[in-house]
Amino acid sequence: MTATSMLDNALANFDQTARLLKKEFPADLLTKMRDPKERIELRISPEFSDGKSHTLRAFVVNHNRALGPCKGGIRMTGSVTLDEVTALAMEMTWKCALIGVPFGGGKSGIVADPATLNPHDKETLIRSFTRNAQRHIHPLVYIPAPDMGTNEQDMGYIKDAITYSRGQATTQGCYVTGKPVILGGIPGRREATGRGVATTVAAAFQTLGRQLQGATAVVQGFGNVGSVAAAALAELGVKIVGVSDVHGAIYSKTGLDFPALAAHVRQHRTVTGFPGATKLTGTKLLTVPCDILVPAATGNQITEQNAPRIQARVVAEGANGPTTPAADRILEKRGVFVIPDILCNAGGVFVSYLEYTQETQQEQMTETEVRTRLTGRMQEKFALVHQTARSRRLSMREAAMVLAVRNVALALQARGSLP
Ligand code: NAD
Repeated sequence: MTATSMLDNALANFDQTARLLKKEFPADLLTKMRDPKERIELRISPEFSDGKSHTLRAFVVNHNRALGPCKGGIRMTGSVTLDEVTALAMEMTWKCALIGVPFGGGKSGIVADPATLNPHDKETLIRSFTRNAQRHIHPLVYIPAPDMGTNEQDMGYIKDAITYSRGQATTQGCYVTGKPVILGGIPGRREATGRGVATTVAAAFQTLGRQLQGATAVVQGFGNVGSVAAAALAELGVKIVGVSDVHGAIYSKTGLDFPALAAHVRQHRTVTGFPGATKLTGTKLLTVPCDILVPAATGNQITEQNAPRIQARVVAEGANGPTTPAADRILEKRGVFVIPDILCNAGGVFVSYLEYTQETQQEQMTETEVRTRLTGRMQEKFALVHQTARSRRLSMREAAMVLAVRNVALALQARGSLP
């Protein structure tokens, strides 16, 4: 995957949607939404435990703020680029607009491989990023969250770095979501994206008139989204037959023993080596027989090359941008039901919004309330996208994009023309 192609794919998706909306909105209004408002490139120089200062690149992109402050996670990988972060910020604009939260789209990137950092150096890096990006992080401007390579603990460091720099114990309003619950995070945020994925899979099966109980699933990526999606699907009676992470894949026709697998991953920090499972390459895993395929790792995994061989009936995009536009056309022709990323993985940003409102209003929400609201919102938006797809004869992705881009266009119109 090249990062440029992720941006190309995001732009191609937008351009196709703009064509579908050209009778509803003037061309100049649609053009206004194509490019990001701000692309910020930072140099940060944290001093690691080797006593040396390491100069690294980081990015903050605010794509569009017609609906509200920009929202989007921090991706930390060795290969993340400004174009990749731009593509992801753009996707966040559409995701927030579709799921119905008053946020625009943003994203950050830190160019570092977290697997090579010890916990102390990772904390130093997150604090260094926060210090350098602090003037871009604000409840009314840009609110970060976890993404690939960052987690709940890192969001705790961000909150601490901001409050520490001001000599205060807490912040007025929400500067970061996905924090530990003890620091003002919301119960159920860590599980929200994966649970939301499972809710959309259940809705898709209902739509298709198929039984979820006993269906088989393959999950690519076993981090926050993948592991929780797999657990939530297993709770719904789905047999998880294959999983992968960056180190490799495992497969068992009869189903993986999920609690034992979770324990194995806790101990070894990888799914590989799980006793009793067959070892496969990550590429091969995507095309094994199964009813549900959940790409929950990174972008551009389902391509023209492997799309003709994918055997799943439902593809649930837990990851952002896992399917290329060319692969999308192949899957559609083959009748594979694709739950597009901006719908499928929107549970995370929806619960981030609950965390934001909880902190703004200095209230507390229970996990039961969070789960009930998450399930309700995912089901409601799934039904809306599906109904739009049917009535306008569009794919699920086209329908989701039409609904999302229309909401942003309506917000821009409602704001009026800015000089
Ligand atoms: P994470 O860092 O917790 O986990 C990523 C997982 O993917 C790890 O298990 C890693 O080993 C694996 N992986 C990486 N490259 C791989 C590859 N080529 N093949 C197989 N496995 C690979 O990240 P996460 O937060 O779970 O995010 C996963 C995806 O979901 C990303 O695309 C992210 O943008 C998207 N997403 C995350 C959230 C969230 O709330 N965390 C919300 C919406 C979307």
